[in-house]
Formats: sequence, C-alpha cells, structure tokens
Amino acid sequence: MMGKLSTRHLEFPAQLIVQQGAVSNSDYLSTLLASKRILLAIDEGVRELARNALADLYHSELCVIHAIHAANLQSIREIDISCATQQIQTIVAFGGGKVLDVCKRLATKRNIELIVIPTALSSDCISSPVAVIFDEQGQKLSLPAAIPNFIIVDTELCARAPNRLTQAGIGDLLSNYSALLDIEYAKDRVGVDGFSFLLAKSAANEILGMEQYGLDELVVINQLAEGLILSGLAMGFSGDSRPCSGAEHLISHAIDYLKFGEGLHGEQVALAMRFCHALRQQLSLPCFEESVLATLDGFGIRSTPKALDITKAQFLEALSIAPTMRKGRITFLENLPIMAKEDIEQAYQKAFKD
Ligand SMILES: [Zn+2]
Repeated sequence: MMGKLSTRHLEFPAQLIVQQGAVSNSDYLSTLLASKRILLAIDEGVRELARNALADLYHSELCVIHAIHAANLQSIREIDISCATQQIQTIVAFGGGKVLDVCKRLATKRNIELIVIPTALSSDCISSPVAVIFDEQGQKLSLPAAIPNFIIVDTELCARAPNRLTQAGIGDLLSNYSALLDIEYAKDRVGVDGFSFLLAKSAANEILGMEQYGLDELVVINQLAEGLILSGLAMGFSGDSRPCSGAEHLISHAIDYLKFGEGLHGEQVALAMRFCHALRQQLSLPCFEESVLATLDGFGIRSTPKALDITKAQFLEALSIAPTMRKGRITFLENLPIMAKEDIEQAYQKAFKD
C-alpha cells in the first residue's frame, strides 16, 4: 500500500542528552534556564534527589516546586492553574512515568516548553506522543501528548532507580518485537509505515542480548534509554502507538481495565508477549527469535501470571476481552473467538509452564 508521495512534518525534541552525570555534573540546566520562570514538577519519592541533583534550580527564586501525587485529570488541572497564576515559561519534569505523563499532557494544552529528566527508565513514555492518565473512575486513558522539547537522561541517576523499574522498561522495549509482528499481520489492510517499523525494531535491538550485563550497569542503562527514546519517536513517526503496541499491549490494557494483579506496565506486556509468542507458535504464525525470551529471562523480568499475582482464570478473562480494548487496532488476536480452546490452553502451558 502506498500513501501519497510527500514528506512529512514531524515533531522532534530539539535536544537530547543521554550521558553519565548529565544532570548532576553539568551547569547546562542552570545556563539554559537562567532568567526563565520555571515550574519543577516532581513526585514526593524523588524530592531529596531533586534537592541534590538539581540544587541550583531547586533553590532558585524563579523556580516553583510542584509535587504531583497521581497521573490523573485532577493533577493536570492543578499544575495548569499553577502555570497560569505564576506565569510559568518552562516546565521541568523530574521523576518517573507519572510526572512525565502529567507534564506531557499539560504541555499539549498550554503549548509550553517542556524539559523531561527521567529518574527511572520503566517505560517508553519519555519521548512518546502519548500520556497515560487515570480518569475520575480510575480507568487508564491513553491521551495524545506533546513530545518534550528537551530530553536529558542522566544514566548515573537512572542506574540508581529500583531494579524492578529498569526491568519493566526492558519488558516494554522488548515488546516491540511482538507489536511488529502484528503490524506485519495487518499489513494488507492498513499498510506498513516503513520508517516507524525500522525505528521500533532498532529500538528493541538496543537491549537484545544485553542480559550478560547487570541491571544497574551504565552500559545497560544507556542502551535502554536510547531504545526507549527511539520507541517513543517510532510512535511519533507513525502517528499512533502501533509500532510499540500490539496484541501484547491489548492484553495488558485488559488486565488494567479489570484491575487484576499488581504488575507494572512493562511486566504485564512482557507476560503477554510470552503468551502471544507461544500462541503464534501454536497457530504456526510468524514468530520472533527465541533470543528475545532469553533476554527477558536473563534480566529476570517478572513475566508470569504467578509473579504478578494474576490467576489463570483472570488471565484468560483478560485475554477474552483484549481484542476489544483498542478500537480499530488489528492484531492476530482478532481471531480469538474462533480459536480452538485447546490451542489457547497449550499456549498457556508452554508460555508459563504451569
Ligand atoms: Zn508500552
């Protein structure tokens, strides 16, 4: 399928720094931000870290500190009011996915400069044009969001994050391999955007086979940061999340919707990609290489129902509603209603060995 022949206009971060000590050892930020009115958004978990790593900014008279407690619509309203009343020119989002998502969503509404400094690499939200926000009923929404103007990843800072967050980020990044199989699957009906495909694949290749290194080694953090940023850009290129979100993400969305277990996003998609892989094998569909699972295992990523406190019955319930979770998203699970129960059972056994 060939679209009309023209170039496309893309949003790109103006600057990207992935470096050891990018925040703590550099006066880059203070120079950049001198004389601007800044809102520094943090969550309480990183307040001490912000006080130390961003000391100049934290204590500056021009800087307002704003703590974000949840990634919900209320938080967006609160920070919006802060920005309006204090004539904020730039937001610095410092923290995990919650802080980044709220600030990215706000930046689309206010058209304000946004600098993100992740303190953990738990998902591909850093540079993606999507923000995950909870509504008043506690349901997760994926809303359009601004791509940040500046991305600063201090690998030393991220290496100090809890291992479980890094593992979740690896799970989210590796799930690209599964998502790309669904793009192939749907190509006759919706076409393939070659550039976003290439970016999403290169992104996942950054971390594949890296399990020989430890989770907090800078080489892993560096590759993971690059991979997750490329993933976000792949979604920006594509104009939707398809390059990084296939059947495995639909299952994870269903688990969220039903509020099952206590897995992180990256763990749930890792679990679901394990199942999708076994099911594709069972159905003789194209599969990704076994080395992808070796990397999941090698990094010890929680990716079984048991590890995430989900029962088999709950998993199967989530699976049954997964194809309905994103309207118009074509994945191989569209055939779920006509699949033999035996195939699903076999795939479950094979994926989770229980
Ligand atoms: Zn994801």
